[in-house]
Amino acid sequence: MWIGGKAIAGTGRRLAVRNPATAEAFEEVPAASTEEVDAAVGASAEAFVSWRRVDAAERAAHLRRLADAAENHAEELVALLTREQGKPTLEAQGELRHFLGGLRYYAEAATKVHGSYQELPSQFGPAYGLVTRRPMGVVAAITPWNFPLTLLGNKVGPALAAGNTVVAKPAETTPLTTLRVAELAGEAGLPPGVLNVVTGGPATGEALVAHPGVRRVAFTGQTGTGRRVMELAGPALKHVSLELGGSDPTIVLADADLDAAVKNIQIGRYWNCGQACLAPKRAFVHAEVYQAFLDRLVERVGRYEPGPGDTRAEKPKLRIGPLHTAAQRDLLVAQLAQAVDRGAKVVVGGEAVEGPGYFFQPAVVVDAPEDSRLANEEIFGPVLPVWKVGGLDEAIERANATAYGLGSSIWTRGAAAIDRAMRELEAGVTWVNQLHYGYDELPFGGTKQSGFGREHGLEALGEYTELKSVVVGGLA
Ligand code: NAD
Repeated sequence: MWIGGKAIAGTGRRLAVRNPATAEAFEEVPAASTEEVDAAVGASAEAFVSWRRVDAAERAAHLRRLADAAENHAEELVALLTREQGKPTLEAQGELRHFLGGLRYYAEAATKVHGSYQELPSQFGPAYGLVTRRPMGVVAAITPWNFPLTLLGNKVGPALAAGNTVVAKPAETTPLTTLRVAELAGEAGLPPGVLNVVTGGPATGEALVAHPGVRRVAFTGQTGTGRRVMELAGPALKHVSLELGGSDPTIVLADADLDAAVKNIQIGRYWNCGQACLAPKRAFVHAEVYQAFLDRLVERVGRYEPGPGDTRAEKPKLRIGPLHTAAQRDLLVAQLAQAVDRGAKVVVGGEAVEGPGYFFQPAVVVDAPEDSRLANEEIFGPVLPVWKVGGLDEAIERANATAYGLGSSIWTRGAAAIDRAMRELEAGVTWVNQLHYGYDELPFGGTKQSGFGREHGLEALGEYTELKSVVVGGLA
């Protein structure tokens, strides 16, 4: 753990960190006790007293120094990320770049927090009003295992830029990159207590969310966990953002640039071994191009070669890493089997790969019934169900037939169809002829059971401040 600028061994139960490519435990971390969570929140609250007074430009400089320190240790962080998470080196490099970009974006933004001036009536004497933004205090930043670095950066960047302090809790299976980043922050001169890390599972997360010293909870994870987080944060009326699960639809119309659609849907769905919140997880393809789409997609997906993330595949094969845990793979296998039992057909892949590690041959599935798990649950692995649709009306209706509302996309050249998709797809984001990707510049988040609150963009910075009005009287 990392508390008050120091590494803390912890007294609790040890949690093994496994390499998903070999299933071997190579490190362990403690499950933080309630007392240790209390110590981290205490260190963070103490640091807040001075951090909120630090000049915004200086806070920005700290974020930049942290980004530089992480960049100087890029090779080490990338290797660690691949080892604890499983993703291929190329993808880990991409994740680190995104993390650095996010920190630097909020370093730029730290000096752009602004308020307003308001004329006031003078019945109580001449006065004017100011609308200011104040930091909130201690932020609990709880992250999942799929993108340990970028999801940490999405919270730490705006939180620190706005003058808050942070206690981060990474997923119990991917704590190591987060711990190393906190250590590097200390080496780069971030004052003790501004960024703390407690390790552990659900009990540690609950202790952190419920701690009276925490004012703001930034959570990313499953929808069910998000509900529990809200229950715990509710009584103390904490500010909460919930970035939860998704089942993004992608619609491909007859006039789409089919090559671009296939390529970007393939990258979006199979990146990170299908373990991304914002991936296209259900494809609705117009009958006129359905077969051509399927043929091209299947050809590309057939090129994936599951293997350890730190090795490359021989061209034209494409490397895909393992699923993150055995439980994650078992769930995927069960979801697929249920759909197949009900009549779905697997066109390519779909088998767990024998041997050590949690590998799975990426799949494309057709004819999954509308009441199957593939159609209704979040599929967090490299499986894409594809359905044939007769037109835009049907596509939008079926795209919206989900409890989730994170991302969505449409592939078409038709302005009217694009306009309808923008207005009618029930999601926090609609990509038009574009890869599902979270830009630092644009607010990202969900609707419906995908949660609320936004990360990225200047809007996220606003979510780490509270408005405070000031009335200035006593004027001559
Ligand atoms: P998870 O909900 O199991 O765990 C997420 C984090 O919450 C972990 O750190 C975990 O230890 C902690 N946690 C677990 N139980 C808790 C509790 N009762 N109280 C407090 N904290 C608790 O999620 P996961 O399986 O690690 O992550 C995958 C999920 O995250 C998927 O559903 C995915 O879609 C979602 N996700 C969403 C976004 C987004 O931006 N919307 C981004 C990435 C991942």
